[in-house]
Formats: sequence, C-alpha cells, structure tokens
Amino acid sequence: MSIGHFIDGKRVGGSSERRADVFDPATGRRTGQVELASAADVAGAVDAAERAARAWRDASLAKRTAVLFAFRELVKARRGRLAEVITAEHGKVLADAAGEVQRGLEVIEYACGIPSAVRGGFSENVSTEVDSYSLRQPLGVVAVISPFNFPVMVPLWFVPVAVACGNAVVLKPSEKDPSAALLLAEWFVEAGLPDGVLNVVNGDKEAVDALLDHPGVKAVSFVGSTPVARYVHQRGSLAGKRVQALGGAKNHMVVLPDADLDLAADAAVNAGFGSAGERCMAISALVAVGPVADALVAKIAERMTRLRTGDGRRGCDMGPLVTAAHAAKVRSYVESGVEAGAVPVVDGRDVTPDGEADGFWLGPTLFDHVTPEMSIYTDEIFGPVLSVVRVGSYDEAVDLVNANPYGNGTAIFTNDGGAARRYQHEVEVGMVGINVPIPVPMAYYSFGGWKSSLFGDLHAHGADGVSFFTRGKVVTSRWLDPRHGGVNLGFPTQT
Ligand code: NAD
Repeated sequence: MSIGHFIDGKRVGGSSERRADVFDPATGRRTGQVELASAADVAGAVDAAERAARAWRDASLAKRTAVLFAFRELVKARRGRLAEVITAEHGKVLADAAGEVQRGLEVIEYACGIPSAVRGGFSENVSTEVDSYSLRQPLGVVAVISPFNFPVMVPLWFVPVAVACGNAVVLKPSEKDPSAALLLAEWFVEAGLPDGVLNVVNGDKEAVDALLDHPGVKAVSFVGSTPVARYVHQRGSLAGKRVQALGGAKNHMVVLPDADLDLAADAAVNAGFGSAGERCMAISALVAVGPVADALVAKIAERMTRLRTGDGRRGCDMGPLVTAAHAAKVRSYVESGVEAGAVPVVDGRDVTPDGEADGFWLGPTLFDHVTPEMSIYTDEIFGPVLSVVRVGSYDEAVDLVNANPYGNGTAIFTNDGGAARRYQHEVEVGMVGINVPIPVPMAYYSFGGWKSSLFGDLHAHGADGVSFFTRGKVVTSRWLDPRHGGVNLGFPTQT
C-alpha cells in the first residue's frame, strides 16, 4: 500500500521520489510505503493552506464550532476504526489505542467551546468617551509536527484548537505510523472543514526543514525527542516563527515509606509498561525512599508475572516496540544495565510473546539498585524498562528529580498530605501527580513540561493552546460626538 499526502481537501500521491517502509510491529511485516515529501511538496501544501486561511479566518465562530461538533461525532462513531489503524502501525494494544483516541476527543470537545476561549475584554470610558477592547486573531498557516508514539492524540492536541482559532494547518505526522493522520484529515473535510484548512504532508527531516524555513508558516507546534525539539525551536525561531517544541522525558515516581504499596505497585506497572513504555509520560525511574524498596520491588515483580506481551489485537497487556531498530536499541540498554551492575529482577529479553516470531518484541524489564550515573537512568530509553533507584530520604528524592535535565511529568505516592503538598511545590517538573502515576492534564488545562522537555513558552491545548494559535490585539476607539475638543498635539492625558 502506498501512503501519500492530503492536500487541498483530497488524498494525493506519486509526487514524492523518496519513500519509507511502514511495518506492522506485531508481525514484523512491511504493510506499506509512505511517501517522503520534498520541499516542493511542502510548498504545495503551504500554498493550499494559505489560500484556505484567507477565507477561514473570516468564518464565523458559529460555522467553526459547527464543523468541530460534526468532526467530534465522526471521530466518536469511528473510534474503533481509528484504534485499529493505530495498533496496526504503532503496535500498542487496542484498548490503549482506544484510550489515545479518547484523549484526542477531549481536545476536540474543548475546541467546540472556542467562542468562550477567544472572547476578549471590553472597557468602557478608559478616557472620556473612549473605549478599549481586546481581540484574539488567528496567525494564518501553522505547522504541526508529531511523533510516532501518539499518532492520533498528539495531532489532536493541536489541530482542533488551531482550526477553531481560525488558522489553516499543515500536519507532518511521524513517518513510522502515517495512516491515522490521513483519516483524521478526511473526516475533518467530511465534517465540513473547507478544503485546504487541514493538509497532511508525510515525510521526514526534509519536510520538517521545509516547514521550518517556509515564510508562509507562521507557527510550529512540535512534539518529539529532545534533540530534535531543541533543533526545531532554534531553526523555527531564527526564521521568525512562534515555536512550541515539546521534547523527551525521564519521569520519576517517588514512593514514600507511608505510601499504600499495593496502589504504588499497580501504578508503577501501569505507568512503566503501558504502551511498552513508549509514552512521554511513562514512569521510567522509581525512587524508593527509605525502607520501602524491598517490599515495593517484590510487589511489582509479582504483578509483572501476570503481564501478557503480544499482538495488540489478541487481548494482550503490552504490545511490541515500534520498529526493529528501536527494539534493538532498547534491548541494548538492558544489556548495558546488566553490565553496569544494576540487578535485573525481571529481564524482558526472556519474554515469550503471544505473537508472530518476527514481531519487534521485548518484555517488561525491572531493574533494582540503579544508580544515577548508569545509562539506563540518564537516558530516555522509551521502552518497557523500569529502574528502581533507592534513596535514603525525601530530600534526596527531590534533589534527584530536580537534578534531572528533563521535567515532563512526575508522581509522588504517599498518604501524607503535607509531604505531597511540599513535593508539588518544590519539584521542578511541569506535570505532577499525587497518587496518580500519569498526570496528563485534561484538555481544558495545558500539557507541557519544563527544562529539556519543552522549548518555548506555551504548553499544548487549554488556554495556552488558544494563546499559541492566536495573536492579541487591543483596539482603542472613540466615536466623536459634537462636543469633541478639536486638534491637540499633546500626549493624551484627558480624564
Ligand atoms: P523524533 O524526535 O524522532 O520525531 C519526531 C518528529 O520529528 C517526527 O515527525 C520526525 O519525522 C521528525 N524528525 C525526526 N528526526 C528529525 C530531524 N533530525 N530533523 C527534523 N525532524 C526530525 O521522536 P519520535 O521517536 O517520533 O517520538 C518519541 C519522542 O517523542 C520521545 O522522546 C518522547 O518523549 C517524545 N514525546 C514527547 C511528548 C511530550 O509531550 N513532551 C509527547 C510524545 C512524545
């Protein structure tokens, strides 16, 4: 199957000379080839978006919300189909894929309320018979560049809000799982979105660079690994664009001695191994404080014996990794952890998957006695590898988390409200869970990390999303009445 682009309201293909293979990670078989856009392909998409943006910015809020409501109904009715497409190219289990669609739907629902979100302010008589009011206006054409791990949710973090705010979008999905984005674009048009308001160009670095350099693109929302996020932010900013670039993560879960250990163990397993650890909010470092470690590790290991790794369509708990290369990379981290002296309590290399032999398998892996200089601790592995770091006190735990260059998500497990409150105050991380392992904010809050997990100022969706996709304008207005004072060259001081 050849996977092309979606430009000006229709699927197009055949124009791009370069292609990449797309795999079903659970079988290891190639299922298609995706076209990799050239700079000329990208320019064609931006042209279509620029034409569409001129009319779309003037579409009434009523028209825009009508499209969003219709789109929401289509995605809701077809969520099962979308989940199947996600599983076929990403590998995550169907229930997890359905959960991803649900989180995306919540952003569409938030964008249905755009009239309230873009409402300005009005002040009467800021000076005598002078009024002031504020507006929020769209930017024009914006680019959204997304990673492989959430082929539906991450595009939906941005596209509904951007479109609702009156922008046109060029979306560049990951070349590893490109099909879901094309369905979303088709369904948006079916819901009444005018042609060209949402375009999808598939591709790799060449397409990304073309978007970053194109003068017609006014803003870039990027999600991916930290080195690429940093690069996108720098190159896009140099080109004069507004950029929000969300990067990688190393999320810590701190377990205090007074925590409910069964709750903490369940949470560690869910957050460590869900989606095979390929989540930017996955827990990869478990910080066991004081005497808690032995019992906690035993409870986690016991739960891991019940996890079934296999084909996401067979009711398993955890699917394969996304590509053979990524599986090999994660496996090499497990090897380096063993070599460095960490204790492999459960070794995922021994897994017997419920799936075909050529799938990209690695089972859930638990390391104990991990120390902060080991690569399994310092690096974002992005796989099903959970590292337990033992510390002596709460203060040591906070210092460890705050010394980490990433600051996406974190969680603390405790029954002490005072300790939890202190942690939320002291920790240098953008999203904090208290007895909640994956604290992903709802759509009406904003999603984003600190430090090397986000370059730029504004987070995704919620109020930050609306700010990102609009420009503020303040109007000061006077309608002269017959009593006006005539010419006065002084600075206005009238009260
Ligand atoms: P990636 O950085 O390899 O790719 C992300 C996007 O950038 C893709 O569209 C890809 O085509 C493009 N790209 C890749 N290399 C590029 C280059 N050299 N120059 C320009 N563009 C390039 O990331 P990935 O492997 O697809 O996704 C996993 C990463 O994304 C992890 O690091 C994960 O933590 C991160 N992520 C972060 C968040 C967040 O909210 N902070 C959410 C999801 C994923």
